[in-house]
Amino acid sequence: MNENDSERISGLLRDEGAQPEDSLEDSDIIIINTCAVRQKSEEKLYSLLGRLGDLKRKKNITVGVVGCVAQLYRSGLIEEKPVIDFVMGPDNYGQIQDILANQTDEKIVSTRWRREWHEVPSSKVHRKRKTSAYATVMEGCDNFCAYCVVPFTRGREKHRPERHILEEIRQLAREGYLEIQLLGQNVNSYRDPETGFSFEHLLKGVNRIEGIQWIRFLTSHPKDLPASLARTIKEAKKICHQLHLPLQSGSSDVLEKMNRGYTKEEYLEKIQMLRSFLPDMSFSTDIIVGFPGETEDDFEQTIEVLKTVRFTNIFSFRYSPRPRTAAAKIEDSVPFAVKRDRLLAVQDIQKQIQLEHNSSLIGKTEKVLCIGKSKKDHRRYSGRNEAYQVVNFHSDLDVIGQFVDVRITSCGPYSLHGEIQELIEKS
Ligand code: SAH
Ligand code: SF4
Repeated sequence: MNENDSERISGLLRDEGAQPEDSLEDSDIIIINTCAVRQKSEEKLYSLLGRLGDLKRKKNITVGVVGCVAQLYRSGLIEEKPVIDFVMGPDNYGQIQDILANQTDEKIVSTRWRREWHEVPSSKVHRKRKTSAYATVMEGCDNFCAYCVVPFTRGREKHRPERHILEEIRQLAREGYLEIQLLGQNVNSYRDPETGFSFEHLLKGVNRIEGIQWIRFLTSHPKDLPASLARTIKEAKKICHQLHLPLQSGSSDVLEKMNRGYTKEEYLEKIQMLRSFLPDMSFSTDIIVGFPGETEDDFEQTIEVLKTVRFTNIFSFRYSPRPRTAAAKIEDSVPFAVKRDRLLAVQDIQKQIQLEHNSSLIGKTEKVLCIGKSKKDHRRYSGRNEAYQVVNFHSDLDVIGQFVDVRITSCGPYSLHGEIQELIEKS
């Protein structure tokens, strides 16, 4: 979502005649788009601001901090870090041109919430990639998981009108995009604010757009995922049989404390239900280890679920307390060393699962959407298969932006390697 926001900010600035620079040293305006989900990402911001302080002593630059850290600390951030000239929350990007037109030395804080959806026309989004595009369907989140700062930084849910989403995707299809990733914190709760139509209605609409070949969406919440969605995926031929379904923990006790709204058993039932409709469905997930009060037994249950579901990929994190969240009010009771060991254990087991799964693909042919090319080896290309795994392969033809058949010849735990068989279709 942050990448998509950066594309919007970049587009709005280019529209005003700004040009991108490759280095900080050559830039007059530096805008940092921030993530507040974990403490670690916040720390990265502070170290970058230190570097910019040095630069600002040598050169007249404007420094803006936008995104979730800006929204979380507002004017406090400017008071603490005087190198910053303006802070702007995710609801205010539409004003970025006005702020930059400001000729005074006055510091600006733009973090007001807006209740209505603010539409940024697709033509103003500067997308780096030309094959696969993000399309935001909703902003904010109403779920208040106990550990999560998102409802405080992105506010309550706001849904984008379906007609705007479809208009944007039709335009992207005309520009030659082949893959669309629909984005929202909890896409299953999407309702068209104008008609009340559901997320599935939107998916069917996207599925009808000529030119678009692969559709993905994230993030789905296990508590809001109906069987009808599985049916829609099955019937709408372009929706990839791949789903990101955050588990967070395999212990029902921890899930309850996290306020996730489902038990371990219910999560496993959802996976089973989806697999009964779509036997070839691959899943990825998010895991948090060391949530306050997580016992060794709770943790073992998370490992058990990993072994049962056999995800194609996971994102795993050490719990970190975040400001304003419910969990931050209880003691961060799991010691750092235990969190670290649990994270390593999760990653170790998952690595083994992925290696086994990837090895089973050797000798098979995968349909791959080629997205990029190696800078070092001009014959080496990379893309993703339907399961959203990275596939690297060699080709004598430039196949960026095209579907190709790749026969898998070797693998590691995090990627597949192969040889191009043939071009499937030209974009
Ligand atoms: N809306 C999505 C993504 C939320 S943020 C969802 O509901 O899944 C992405 C991931 O960051 C979360 O799924 C969670 O695994 C992780 N995360 C969020 N807050 C965290 C915290 N305080 N500590 C560690 N990980 C966290
Ligand atoms: Fe955060 Fe939970 Fe909302 Fe995801 S669903 S953004 S984890 S509060």
